[in-house]
Amino acid sequence: MTLNLLDYRIRQRDYLLSITQAMVSRLNVRAVLRLILQAAVDMLQGQSGLIALYNADGAFAFWTSYGLPPALVDAFHPLIEGVPAVDKAEDFTIPNLADKLAQIAEETGLLLRQVVALPMVVDAAGSHAGGEPRQDFLGVLFVFRSHSLSFSPDDRQILKSFADYAAIAVNNAQLYEAAVTERGRLDALLESSGDGIMVLRPDLSIERLNRALASLTGWTAEEAVGRQHDDVIVWARQNSDMTLNQAMEQGWPSRDSGVAMGRSAGASRTLYAEGELRRRNGSVVSVGITYAPLLGRNGRLINIISTIRDITRFREADVLKDTFISVVSHELKTPVSIIKGYAETLRRPEARRNPALVEEMLASITEESDRLARLVDDLLDASRLQAGGLPFRDVEEVDLRFIARRVIERYAPQSTQHRLVLDFTPADDFPTVRGDPQRLEQVLDNLVSNAIKYSPRGGVVEIKGEASTVEVVISVRDEGVGIPFEEQERIFTRFHRVESPETRAVAGTGLGLYLTRAIVQAHGGRCWVDSSPGQGATFYVALPRETGLALWRGAEADGAPQTPPDDTIILDM
Ligand code: ADP
Repeated sequence: MTLNLLDYRIRQRDYLLSITQAMVSRLNVRAVLRLILQAAVDMLQGQSGLIALYNADGAFAFWTSYGLPPALVDAFHPLIEGVPAVDKAEDFTIPNLADKLAQIAEETGLLLRQVVALPMVVDAAGSHAGGEPRQDFLGVLFVFRSHSLSFSPDDRQILKSFADYAAIAVNNAQLYEAAVTERGRLDALLESSGDGIMVLRPDLSIERLNRALASLTGWTAEEAVGRQHDDVIVWARQNSDMTLNQAMEQGWPSRDSGVAMGRSAGASRTLYAEGELRRRNGSVVSVGITYAPLLGRNGRLINIISTIRDITRFREADVLKDTFISVVSHELKTPVSIIKGYAETLRRPEARRNPALVEEMLASITEESDRLARLVDDLLDASRLQAGGLPFRDVEEVDLRFIARRVIERYAPQSTQHRLVLDFTPADDFPTVRGDPQRLEQVLDNLVSNAIKYSPRGGVVEIKGEASTVEVVISVRDEGVGIPFEEQERIFTRFHRVESPETRAVAGTGLGLYLTRAIVQAHGGRCWVDSSPGQGATFYVALPRETGLALWRGAEADGAPQTPPDDTIILDM
């Protein structure tokens, strides 16, 4: 018996060894469980066995069997029905186990005399961190005997070592699966992020680079991984005092050099760098980079997680804000100082003695006040437009020819150098459009005022109206300085003005065309320019045509006859 026992122990040790090897070699969990079950059955001198695992849905299912015809496994189901999950291995029982076994034996015709069932449990994660130790209940291991020798406490002890191994194998497999899922989740998160993300090793070589960063820098992940941070993050201009390398030389992240490097988030030890990043193709982009250290328990640096954000829009907003301040202060200053100058002069008694001079000064004050009011209106409109839309007062049938004539009459007296021409076809019956008359007048006013402002040597300014079946097109042509091709889209953006010696002296905010296009688009239309430098410019406004009703006829029908304007009026001033 002593020799047998030794023999037995050696066999048990061999089994446990091969099970350990199977677990280490990452055999799939079913194969490992089968090996464990086979060893358990053999060591306990049983004939067959089963392993049932507790599923995520809260029920048991058989995972592997040994020594049983597969077709009969289902018949063992009563053994695992209603088995309560337990927190401690000692609490585990299967009610009426012997009776159930007898019933299964009868049903299947198998010789099943004895059964032992042990729970497979592992210590629950974190259960020793204070309080009662808890265990996770993973499954049950059954061994059946066809002879009537009942299972001894020794047998149970042996079986327990196998059940423990089985529990560890299952637990490992579950942890592995959870780690794979977690990794998948992390991958999806990294790849779907709109910000560029780069994971660095402590030597600043690149471990990962996501899709957003690949498209921002022009480096693919395959090309970038393994390279140094500085190969991919190349600053054309950096606003921070230090590079990442320099911060690390100064002891970051052990000592917080964040403040020195950028606008740091202090306590969290992140670094922030901002500037112009040179892309692989040589172009530059404004970025802000946050470097966050990932530290191990002992404070050792494991990774640096860098988040790279394209801040072009913020920088543009900054530039726009600066432009806004300079435009507004300049444009406000001029009329205000003119008004103040005239007002001061008018206070002098000698000035008041000359009525013609007084009249002239008052006219200038009125003109400058109008200019100020217009500027304030434009600024308000621009800010409303940013906030969602321009207010439209009335929507009605608008006669653009009538409006164009009024604009010409307003501007004609202001310049002796310009010849303002109106040419609408068809003249008598030019179609109306549905819209806000004040806003559409603002459009034409802007275009005519620009045509005059930007043709300092004078010349013809022509407002032309043409109609097709679908739209009306109004154009304003001048013979002025013209607009370089590359500026022809930009002039429609907020505050944009062409920088040239000819236009530098011309007052303006760069808001007129921005508002013009917005108004036209709100009417469902389009607005564009055709020009070459030195050859003048022609601005076009196309508005969708309303069916039917022309305002002239409508007005006549209402009993308020109006004289249609002449075909072409030429105002020579
Ligand atoms: P502002 O005239 O107040 O500067 P606009 O938005 O009306 O603002 O025009 C934007 C810019 O477009 C002007 O600064 C000017 O450089 C250019 N521009 C507009 N109209 C003309 C034109 N008719 N001829 C030449 N340049 C023009």
